Formats: sequence, structure tokens, C-alpha cells
Amino acid sequence: MNANTQAGIAGSVKMRSRPEQTGLPEKEYEAFKRDIFEAIWRDLDPLEEQIENDEHVPHEIVDPLLLKMGAFGLMIPRRFGGIGLSTSQYMPILAEFSKIQGGIRVLVHVHNSVSHGLLEIASEEQLQAIMPAVAKGTKSVAFGLTEPDFGSGADIGTGAVRDGDDYVINGRKWLITNSDFATHFMIIAKTDPSKGADGISSILVERNTPGLTVTPLPETMGCKGGEHGQIDLVNVRVPVSNILGKEGEGLTQMEEVLEISRVFIAATSLGTAERAMELSLDFAKKRVTFGKAIASRQAIQRYIAEMGTDIYALRGMIADATAKWDSGRRIPAEASMSKLFGLEAVGRVTDRSLLIHGGIGYTRKYPIERLYRDARLNWLEEGPPTIQMAVAAHAFLNGYDWDA
Ligand SMILES: Cc1cc2nc3c(=O)[nH]c(=O)nc-3n(C[C@H](O)[C@H](O)[C@H](O)COP(=O)(O)OP(=O)(O)OC[C@H]3O[C@@H](n4cnc5c(N)ncnc54)[C@H](O)[C@@H]3O)c2cc1C
Repeated sequence: MNANTQAGIAGSVKMRSRPEQTGLPEKEYEAFKRDIFEAIWRDLDPLEEQIENDEHVPHEIVDPLLLKMGAFGLMIPRRFGGIGLSTSQYMPILAEFSKIQGGIRVLVHVHNSVSHGLLEIASEEQLQAIMPAVAKGTKSVAFGLTEPDFGSGADIGTGAVRDGDDYVINGRKWLITNSDFATHFMIIAKTDPSKGADGISSILVERNTPGLTVTPLPETMGCKGGEHGQIDLVNVRVPVSNILGKEGEGLTQMEEVLEISRVFIAATSLGTAERAMELSLDFAKKRVTFGKAIASRQAIQRYIAEMGTDIYALRGMIADATAKWDSGRRIPAEASMSKLFGLEAVGRVTDRSLLIHGGIGYTRKYPIERLYRDARLNWLEEGPPTIQMAVAAHAFLNGYDWDA
């Protein structure tokens, strides 16, 4: 995202228009959480080597497993066939997915994140039409904002021109996650270039619409197997009724939806950092040099204390931000600060963990090599650090009251 997109949030605390996040009763949630944690480690973790080698997530194996554990509809309300978690209840589950192979995490994360965004901005009629299939994973919506030839937000180049009862869309998006299996794309386009930031809209486009093509991009550094392709739109014609919310609301919607999405990235940072910590504790107790376990050395203990401090602080930030969001509040500063602190924390924790593992940590013998690479994506998803700084600073400079 660029600063123009992200810094336009008003200073005062706002309530969200449609908070539908009641969540499961405590006992039911604990049982669900226990079952899905077990399934993540029993069914998905063993696929790590295959996915890392092939740089491909085998959907024919993974999708039925995800469906069985309810992972396609985690925050989708029960009336649409989802599990109905609140965002507070979702965070630990996303964090657990962030401990195993990163391509699976990205798939689950973006599918659930965009579904949650739709709940905030789509009409009831649109939700009725798509959500039951999204909850089953037979439909999936990818988020199409980033462009190769322009900045994000107010600077985008993709345009949607009204022609009778249709929009005709032209433009190019890239780095669009789940581009391999998405059935729909939420395309952010200029519907009235003369209005600047108020002339941008979100439009739902089906994958098989004539003029839309998807091209894979080269494989990524980490989170192997996730597909983040390029979407070309040439005279793509869709009915005006495919608009999400009202024409010109696109940027405001993004500001709202991206808030909780940034906390989701913080939760993935937390999960990855927790796994790196567990691996480090285990390794430090077993590795002996000069007749003693390295865990007994002050230098290693200092790393461990620093890692623990980062994890503890991040847990607190995520808990505060999600509790506010679930109460129906907007959280512009908290979201950007959680995302920013999270990406720096997981960067530090995976650095320290690699050092504790010594040279063997740089090989694929231990998962720290993968976690280190996977964590670097958290710097970029939902906007890089400079943008998070711009959003948080803008909120505070405009009188944002985080204690309200
Ligand atoms: C694996 C992966 C998956 C992704 N998935 C999606 C997806 O599903 N949908 C989607 O739409 N996007 C997706 N993205 C794109 C991601 O959100 C962007 O890459 C990220 O927001 C940065 O935008 P950019 O790449 O255009 O970089 P740029 O905007 O070109 O930024 C480059 C550098 O310049 C800085 N910069 C740029 N503009 C400003 C400014 N105005 N002020 C200060 N600094 C600035 C940035 O901080 C950054 O350091 C994905 C990216 C990756 C790597």
C-alpha cells in the first residue's frame, strides 16, 4: 500500500458499520480449538517436506483436510455454514497455522481474511449468494489491489468505466495470493478518476469472465507453494450489481478491512515466533559444547529472554487490538502498530533462533531454516513498515484517542 491509501483515517475513534463477531460459547470454542490444533499437526505438518521440495501446495490433498477441520469458514457466521469464530477466537488458530508450512498458512489466512472483509462490506444479497460456498472452500475470493505499474490506493491505474448496466474493467494486478484456486477476485478500480480517493470502488469479478487472465509469477523466498499471480483485465465486463458497497467507497472500505487484516499478520508473526522459541529451547538444552549444554550459557539465555519478551509483548498487543475490534470499534493505530511490532519481533526472534541453532540451523535439518524465510513475508503483506508508520503517526497527529 502507499501512504496515500493508508494515512487517510480520521483521528477520532469510529465504530464499524457491521460488527457481526459474536463468536462461539467458551466451552464449544475450546473443544473446536483443541480439535483443529490436533488436525493441523497430525494432517498438515507432515506435508512440509513435499511442499518445500515441489514449491507447490497439492490442493487435491490439502483442501479436503482443510474442509474437514472447518478451516475455510473460520469467521463466517453459522447462518452461512461457517464456524462463527470472533476475531479474538480466530487469532490463536491463525497463529497455530503459522507454525507449520507457510504455503498452507498463506492459503488459509488469505481465504479467511478476504471472507471476513466481505462480511464487512458486501450486501446481504451478495453474502447470501457467495458465503455458503466460501465456507466450504468451493468458492474463494482473492484480494486484487497491488499493481506493477502504479502505487496502491489512490494511485492505482486499473479503471472501471460504466457502460449501461455494466462496468468495463481494464488494468493489471500482481502478487495476488490464491490466484491459482480463487473463483473470484475483489478488484479495486477507479470508477471516477475525477474524484481521486473518492472515485475508487471494490468490484467482485468472477475468474472465468472473458478478458480476465491469470499468469503465475516466479516462486517466492518463503511460504513456498503459495500462488501470488498476475491478473490482467482487458475489457472485462461485469454487471454494476457486482460492486461491493457503494460506488466510490472503495478506499474507505479498504481502510476498515485492512485494520483487522494487519492484526491477522501480527498473529502469524506471533505463531512463527512461538515455534522458533520452542525449537530454540529444545535445541539449546540438547546441544553440548565444552562439556555443557549451550542453554547454561548466559549469552544464549539472553537471546531466550529477549525472544520471550518480544513474544509476550506481541501477545498483549494482539489481544488488546482484537478485543477492541470485536467490540465494534475501529483500530487504525493499534492495527498498524501490532503489524509493525509483530514483523520486527518475528524478525528478531527468528534471527536469534537461527543463531542458537548455529551452522546446522542454516540447513534444512531443522524447521528454523523455513521459519526464517517464511517470516520475511510478514514485512510485506498488508503494507510494508513505512506504511504502518505513516498510518499510526497520522492517527495520533489527528487526535486519535486510543483510550476512548
Ligand atoms: C507473497 C505476497 C503476497 C501478496 N498478496 C497480495 C494480495 O493478495 N493482494 C494484493 O493486492 N497485494 C498482495 N501483495 C502485495 C503487497 O501488499 C505489496 O507488495 C506491499 O503492500 C508493497 O507494495 P508494492 O509491492 O507495490 O511496493 P511499493 O509500493 O513499490 O513500495 C516499495 C518501497 O517503497 C516504500 N513506499 C512506497 N510508497 C511509499 C510512500 N508513499 N511513502 C513511503 N514509503 C513508500 C514502501 O514502504 C516500500 O519499502 C502480496 C505481496 C507478496 C510479497
